Amino acid sequence: MARIAFIGLGNMGLPMAINLVAAGHQVHGFDLTPTQISALEAKGGRKATTPMGAVDGAEVVITMLPAGQHVRSVYETDVFGRSPKGTLLIDCSTIDVATARDVAEKAGELGLEMIDAPVSGGTAGASGGTLTFMVGGPQSVFEKAKPYLEIMGATIVHAGGAGNGQAAKICNNMMLGINMLGVCEGFTMAEKLGLDTRKLFEISAKSSGQSWAMTSYCPVPGLAESAASNRDFAAGFSGNMMLKDLSLAQDASTDVNASTPLGSEARKLFRDYVESGHGDLDFSGIIKMIRGE
Ligand code: NAD
Repeated sequence: MARIAFIGLGNMGLPMAINLVAAGHQVHGFDLTPTQISALEAKGGRKATTPMGAVDGAEVVITMLPAGQHVRSVYETDVFGRSPKGTLLIDCSTIDVATARDVAEKAGELGLEMIDAPVSGGTAGASGGTLTFMVGGPQSVFEKAKPYLEIMGATIVHAGGAGNGQAAKICNNMMLGINMLGVCEGFTMAEKLGLDTRKLFEISAKSSGQSWAMTSYCPVPGLAESAASNRDFAAGFSGNMMLKDLSLAQDASTDVNASTPLGSEARKLFRDYVESGHGDLDFSGIIKMIRGE
């Protein structure tokens, strides 16, 4: 069993770290919020009071942090220069492709083995160990990381070289943001047309309008079991996070001169949602804004 440093024990990181503990690994966790570290400790993890305390002696370092600047800062300040050559570094955060490639290059120069491995599947996937991992980095490092990823996820895909995991993630989430807005518009129009939304769900779930956003995460309550709409839009995946990912997608789109007009419109609508004070709610709560509530 490996000694693992896990940095970033938030909504996603904590359940992922708990799954590694449950699989028998020695997980030393660190987060800026002490209660998150205590929550890991309560499940059999080890408490680190500094990031260095987690990293020292670790064969594997896993990070699950909010954004690119946090990832850069943790690796450059707390990991590089401390971890010996050959240490496996797995960044599961969703960040910009350029930062992912830059940090991986610096890791490579120090003889460290790094992959970017962002995830899809939300907090339910993190708790259930059913996440999808999209991995960027060398094949040999992917193979080395796979046994750990398999504990936390059900689908592990090697997407190519460094940064390609992040590229897959932002393309996926841009599609999700656009799909969710489509579902919100369809269900709002159904309500106004006097069509029972339960009937629309029953029909579209088996028709060409079907999408994950509708059948697994329907923004109308009572239709999809695990949807945030059933919890008054308490965040599984927050509006802030969706805006972040749509902004990463637009930055990348501009960099490579891709045409993404719907991605651009989705970012605008989610920005309005966040700026109206709903950023901490689930992203699917945007249906209230679409309804004009
Ligand atoms: P979160 O805000 O709940 O957790 C982030 C954690 O990182 C916090 O506990 C914070 O205290 C900690 N942190 C920040 N800076 C730190 C530092 N320097 N050292 C140690 N800890 C630090 O966010 P989350 O929902 O867990 O998301 C984490 C990442 O996963 C994000 O990049 C997000 O885009 C991505 N993601 C989230 C979801 C989701 O459904 N929540 C799904 C897929 C991907």
